[in-house]
Amino acid sequence: MFQEGCSNNIRIVLINTSHPGNIGGVARAMKNMALEQLYLVQPREFPASRAVWRAAGATDILKRAKIFDCVDDAVRDCGLVIGTSARGRRIPWPIIDPRDCGAITWKESSVHPVALLFGREDRGLTNDELRKCHYHVHIPSNQEYSSLNLSCAVQVIVYEIYLASLEKNDLNFNKQIEWDQPIAKVGDVERFHTHLEETMREVGFYDPNNPKQLTTRMRRLFSRVRMDEMEVSILRGLLSAVQRRLSMYTK
Ligand code: SAH
Repeated sequence: MFQEGCSNNIRIVLINTSHPGNIGGVARAMKNMALEQLYLVQPREFPASRAVWRAAGATDILKRAKIFDCVDDAVRDCGLVIGTSARGRRIPWPIIDPRDCGAITWKESSVHPVALLFGREDRGLTNDELRKCHYHVHIPSNQEYSSLNLSCAVQVIVYEIYLASLEKNDLNFNKQIEWDQPIAKVGDVERFHTHLEETMREVGFYDPNNPKQLTTRMRRLFSRVRMDEMEVSILRGLLSAVQRRLSMYTK
């Protein structure tokens, strides 16, 4: 099923970037590594001349950058979302290193869009954004000073994707992608999570006033599984059946 990757299916998503110079630096890093899809979620200042200066010859990427109001809109059609993080978070998530990130991104880009999320200069990605990701990637760095400049972090990640694109051998990572059904897209999985949360609430299993990380743990479970389209629709059907039966008792 896997053929050559497709760079047009790989998008770099910058969330809430403060400094337009960093956006320019990212455009340049991407163009050096033959990537073009730059998605900006609520940039603080864009378009901006400082972005153009830092982009050097990569202004075409800036011109074609797509701007969004929320992360969900920027990744809805993706089959894989990877978040970058300079530090560990409270609930650990599956972590890959930049080399595996390059390999899996390149490989999966042959079948569906892949998004790589990069956070704010001051605060990184929020927990809510990180839990939308299948994997987190951490660039190994000085533990006392682990946070790279945003465009430098993008440079490392896109370099690894480029290296993976030059690699002819099968890296054998993530074999489960060779499957009879397409992997579910982010938008369908989001709707499943909304439905799951609603049903868990209706049956009295989930109390939104006392959440205890339940929905985060459910998200982590299902993002590890990488459900296919058929599995999502079976589970949605099951949830609907539970809701129908419940409404018979609560009439
Ligand atoms: N102070 C922030 C770091 C922001 S750096 C924090 O503590 O989270 C801006 C962005 O660059 C991060 O959100 C991440 O996308 C990327 N980045 C910086 N250093 C990184 C690292 N070591 N590994 C992975 N991503 C990194």
